[in-house]
Amino acid sequence: QTVHDKDQIQGLRNIREFLKVRCGYDVFPLSFRLIVLDNDLLIKKSLNILIQNSIVSAPLWDSHSSSFAGILTATDYINVIQYYCQFPDEIGKLDQFRLSSLRDIEKAIGALPIETVSVNPSTPLFDAIKRMLNTRARRIPLVDVDDETGREWVVSVITQYRILKFIAVNNEHNTMLLKKTIRELNLGTYTNLATTHMSNTVLDVIHQMVERNISCVPVVDDDNRVLNVFEAVDIIPCIKGGMYEELNWSVGDALCKRPEDSPGIYTCSEHDRLQAIFDTIRKSRVHRLIVVDDDNKLRGVLSLSDILMYVLFSDEA
Ligand code: ATP
Repeated sequence: QTVHDKDQIQGLRNIREFLKVRCGYDVFPLSFRLIVLDNDLLIKKSLNILIQNSIVSAPLWDSHSSSFAGILTATDYINVIQYYCQFPDEIGKLDQFRLSSLRDIEKAIGALPIETVSVNPSTPLFDAIKRMLNTRARRIPLVDVDDETGREWVVSVITQYRILKFIAVNNEHNTMLLKKTIRELNLGTYTNLATTHMSNTVLDVIHQMVERNISCVPVVDDDNRVLNVFEAVDIIPCIKGGMYEELNWSVGDALCKRPEDSPGIYTCSEHDRLQAIFDTIRKSRVHRLIVVDDDNKLRGVLSLSDILMYVLFSDEA
């Protein structure tokens, strides 16, 4: 064992211990807002609410049964688009669909439903993340029960990004021990990458995302140099007008519709140490890293789930 191996093991062990003694409540800032959408809301209206509030997902509330009804994410809109592609004659009906119809849309197109696991905010983070990674969900709702009324309420939603940020900010000394490079750890995906070009249509990219079950597709030029990344959330501004013709827009045009405050893309090299990746997460709003070589040519994709899986489950430690 080298010094690096020992440090790596110690760093991972400490972070895992930390996640076992912290819970969902520890992750929230002192003050925060949570926008919850009523399940009876029309789907087309939900788009504008997300855009106006600069959010990309929201918990759903069933006001008939006063209970939590799942989480609305970009995947739901992708399902609506697929429904439209499979049943083009039903375009008229699309305007009347409510959020509560999303599960029926899922069934109609034969999409695998994403299990909505929710956890109590006092559950240890380690267990909460484990449950999240075991399902295909990328965020986990924290649902508690009101002592007096016995009713459920949604306290907050934690995302993979929030968890990694929480780890990075509170474990600077431990993440410093993670000195192995992402190549040594074989962290990320490097083969059979899904990519697109600026001139391809938004619909082409959506089909790639659905087929591959991924939420980002790097946009490259003819020499495989990375120009940008199309993300599932980039679909939201494209369909807000309810005119599904925008799906024939080119990727380049769609990326111009990104909100001003969108965080942009982050790249890294295969030779970066995991320590450096955590530094980036500590400082910026990163949702994935695109691995490039010195020439800015695409090498791979490092997603937040890749990092979390490694931190929690790698058998090194
Ligand atoms: P999110 O990015 O929404 O937080 P996530 O972290 O699960 O979710 P995905 O982009 O859905 O990330 O990645 C799932 C898996 O697919 C990861 O192992 C990732 O390395 C791989 N992957 C991501 N994008 C691509 C791509 N364009 N081509 C091939 N594999 C990819």
